[in-house]
Amino acid sequence: MPRVIAMMNQKGGVGKTTSAVNLAAALAATGKRVCLIDLDPQAHMSLHVGLDPDELDCTVYDLFTDTARSAEEAVVRVDERLDAIVSETDLAAAESELAEQDDRQHILSRAFAPIADRYDVVMIDCPPSLGVLTINALAMADEVIVPMQAHFLALQGVGKLLETVGLVCQSVNPQLEVGGIILCMHERNTNLAREVVDDLEGFFTGARDSDAPWRNCRVLQPPIRRNIKLAEAPSFGQTIFQYEPTSHGAADYAALAQCVLDGWNPPTDVEVPAPVVETPEAPQPADASGTQDAP
Ligand code: ADP
Ligand code: MG
Repeated sequence: MPRVIAMMNQKGGVGKTTSAVNLAAALAATGKRVCLIDLDPQAHMSLHVGLDPDELDCTVYDLFTDTARSAEEAVVRVDERLDAIVSETDLAAAESELAEQDDRQHILSRAFAPIADRYDVVMIDCPPSLGVLTINALAMADEVIVPMQAHFLALQGVGKLLETVGLVCQSVNPQLEVGGIILCMHERNTNLAREVVDDLEGFFTGARDSDAPWRNCRVLQPPIRRNIKLAEAPSFGQTIFQYEPTSHGAADYAALAQCVLDGWNPPTDVEVPAPVVETPEAPQPADASGTQDAP
């Protein structure tokens, strides 16, 4: 079964879509089979990978509202090892259309299940809200990754987000973990950015021994520098690796993918086998009793 990542932050403009697309592309470049799912009615992720929802017959909206439609119909090839399921503006209506439906948190994972085993990684680009669409992403995910900018008040937003993840853990998905923070449009040399990062690291370190879903959360490395090529690539419908593979942006997302993968396969300490001590065969006790077993 694939590793399912929800790229989530209820704040807009923090780098969710940029990170979903380019981290997915970077993981695909390492040999992983990846599927991107756009859950934002703005469909920026879809456009970023060069897919126009108006030209496609089956979108994620259809999967939410029509059980006769299948993920098989919705999935589109983007690049080698990289597929996508697009969104469309109608998806905005799904929030209210689904309000009364039983078990509405699990619609996406149920719809995706028949094709799940084709992938190693599924990356879901969440909308900037905490409604039923985001809950569907969290119900299906193994892991939440939070893109953010190291700004004043950013930590408050992260607090709210963690609270939501905590509630989802209690109700629909007890296995869910917050795996990492991506620092986007990062200005490494400002005092503010440094303070925010220190606060974040302090907060997560303090949670290590708790049972909170973010106890294993890491600030992922490297931070993604501000890079104009990352902002230009979406208008060409290309990932950064297609648009400008030698840019800082491409280098940062490639290194980030490695960091994410390392977190999944932590280096195990090489076990030194215990020396085999040759114990001579224990001498047979002399038959001191002189008695024999009764026949
Ligand atoms: P979200 O999905 O959270 O709303 P986006 O990924 O769409 O955020 O990013 C918001 C804007 O910032 C977009 O115009 C995007 O191109 C730009 N952007 C994101 N990351 C970077 C970066 N590292 N450098 C420069 N521009 C960026
Ligand atoms: Mg977005």
